[in-house]
Amino acid sequence: MTLARNHKKARALKAGSPRPAKALCSECGLCDTYYIHYVKEACAFLNQQFETLETQTHGRSRQLENWDECYFGVHHQMLAARKTEPIAGAQWTGIVSSIAIAMLESGRVEGVVCVHASEGDRFTPKPVIARNRDEILAARVNKPTLSPNLSVLEEVERSGLKRLLVIGVGCQIQALRAVQDKLGLEKLYVLGTPCVDNVTRAGLQKFLETTSRSPDTVVYYEFMQDFRVHFKHSDGSTETVPFFGLKTNQLKDVFAPSCMSCFDYVNGLADLVVGYMGAPFGWQWLVVRNPLGQEMLDLVRAQLETQPVMSKGDRHAAVQQSIPAYDKGVTLPMWAAQLMGLVIERIGPKGLEYARFSIDSHFTRNYLFVRRNYPAKLATHVPRFAQKIVDQYHLPES
Ligand code: FAD
Repeated sequence: MTLARNHKKARALKAGSPRPAKALCSECGLCDTYYIHYVKEACAFLNQQFETLETQTHGRSRQLENWDECYFGVHHQMLAARKTEPIAGAQWTGIVSSIAIAMLESGRVEGVVCVHASEGDRFTPKPVIARNRDEILAARVNKPTLSPNLSVLEEVERSGLKRLLVIGVGCQIQALRAVQDKLGLEKLYVLGTPCVDNVTRAGLQKFLETTSRSPDTVVYYEFMQDFRVHFKHSDGSTETVPFFGLKTNQLKDVFAPSCMSCFDYVNGLADLVVGYMGAPFGWQWLVVRNPLGQEMLDLVRAQLETQPVMSKGDRHAAVQQSIPAYDKGVTLPMWAAQLMGLVIERIGPKGLEYARFSIDSHFTRNYLFVRRNYPAKLATHVPRFAQKIVDQYHLPES
């Protein structure tokens, strides 16, 4: 069956025009294509449907009574890994890029949806369909800004691709899963990364200017497991800033409203997720959700050093304290932040417990954001797994 018979078309929205999800739009790219026809069902911010899409993708939804599944989604394996020969310039060790190359070069897929940087600005994303190793390598490293990855879906149809790998973050993948059977593909693989606290390009500038000593030379940054933001600069130097020293009062409105109301931190609908936060410092964290994810991991296994996931510490008190501190916009002087960083690095949560710490802190913050700003959406927008996680904490009444 040809694709034209398989789906309905609507006119894509012009750049800059209002989006159906309004302020909550994460610019996933769906509305830049004629698949906007499906936006009411497909948009992660208009129609939360994790359980349906998990069942469609993995054959079942996550088991809420199993805490690991409640936090990390449907999976049959988690591990820590790093490339024995890291890819220079990748975000971590380049596992994502290596899998994409192996998928293409083994002939499993004909193209890979990924994100280049725009000419002239390394942080403005430019989604592409990569067809060879060089085009995949050119997409390495995060563009830490909202990225319209799905805007290339019309090009997928036009180019007649039948076997595709899509790399993306949760909001993009939720919309993709909702329309995937309209794309005329024979095979779709999804390689996800976790994602949190993303920003518009303007928001990124504010974050860099508020946080880094040299905002114009930053080529990379990551919030790492040692409770510090690591910035790499174009001269090769590294700058670290403790989380507790971030100017929270100035950064409160910097994160996109979509990210402030997102509960898909761990990309529950991808086949395989490659992040870092459940692994020891310096390692990446892999969550294999289904047989397609296993197939992708197996392809690069020989390029990886691995170890089992571990978990140490207890996050609960730190998360509970962070709730009023965030609300009040508490910022410590840098000496106190450095000291706090050293202490928490030594005694704080590690491995999976660090991942839970990060999930809990973001879910409680986001729950309050939705409750305060979109009270009518609260009941339908917050998935059951997130509600269970948030229910562990005492939240302010208003
Ligand atoms: P690389 O080989 O460098 O490949 C990176 C891939 O990411 C490329 O294929 C590129 O196409 C894709 N990409 C880059 N920018 C975007 C974007 N804006 N949207 C969609 N795809 C993109 N992991 C955690 O464990 N915890 C977190 O809190 C966390 N936050 C993240 C926030 C953002 C905004 C992003 C984009 C990623 C985040 N990650 C997080 C994932 C992590 O930073 C790494 O991307 C991941 O571990 C892969 O590293 P790598 O070296 O294998 O990737």
